[in-house]
Amino acid sequence: MSRDHRVFPKRAALVHRSLALLLTLVACIPIVLVFESVPALLLAPVIGGVYYLVSTRRYRRRARIAARPFPSPWRDVLLRRVPFYRGLGEVDRPRFELDVALFLSEQRIIGDHGATVDDETRVLIAASAAMLAFGMPEWEWDDLRDIVVYPRAFDDGYRQSHDAQIAGMVHHQGPILLSQRDVKLGFAKQDGHNVALHELAHVMDFADGRADGIPADIDWVATAPWIELVSNRLERVRRAGKYRALRSYAGTNEAELFAVAVEAFFERPAALKERDPDLYAALADYFNQDPAG
Ligand SMILES: [Zn+2]
Repeated sequence: MSRDHRVFPKRAALVHRSLALLLTLVACIPIVLVFESVPALLLAPVIGGVYYLVSTRRYRRRARIAARPFPSPWRDVLLRRVPFYRGLGEVDRPRFELDVALFLSEQRIIGDHGATVDDETRVLIAASAAMLAFGMPEWEWDDLRDIVVYPRAFDDGYRQSHDAQIAGMVHHQGPILLSQRDVKLGFAKQDGHNVALHELAHVMDFADGRADGIPADIDWVATAPWIELVSNRLERVRRAGKYRALRSYAGTNEAELFAVAVEAFFERPAALKERDPDLYAALADYFNQDPAG
């Protein structure tokens, strides 16, 4: 996948070009009826063209961002804090950087409860998104959700109390809440806990309108095996016993199972592959990546 493909994804290009052409053709009918002249038909491609220019301005904005050099303080954060980025070759790093730059230009990340969101946190959140979508050129992050950053973990009343345990949260349609401290901790160790990956995995799950552990945009032939896999692993995590591939929080429900599995897939891929090769293979297929390879 090239950088160009990310700037203007093939599917989006096809959709917008087809709609512009269709609009041009459809516009001919009222133009002929109203103006009763053939030269007036030249208006039709103008209408189609205007539609195309308006509907694709997001991609021209992306092209301008892609043309700018990637800020070196952001690259320093990636090098210091993101093992996934360090593991990429010279060809893939610019593509990852572009994903980070596009995410930061299109998503609103705001501090709350006194948090001043520093650049490191912003880059780490964007890097999490870039990791998830790295093998998925057509994936588009919904930019309607705000990403709200709290200084530390919060409780179920969204308070920063001493015994607060919640490092992140995302509602079906609402904002993504993240604890700044925990976003950073998530990248400090490769221990299967990474709150930014976890919450963004929920966003992928919820993108089809359901919190069912079945991520959006999945190939339809893979849907039935996914449903079976998720319900089977949910049962195995709940039974505990010898199943150690995922931490126990995965047993909460289908959505948490998927989010915890995604953390394990990116943070400890070799261990997940060894302990549950089928789950690893399903995730590798969906994300179109093989982090253990
Ligand atoms: Zn969760």
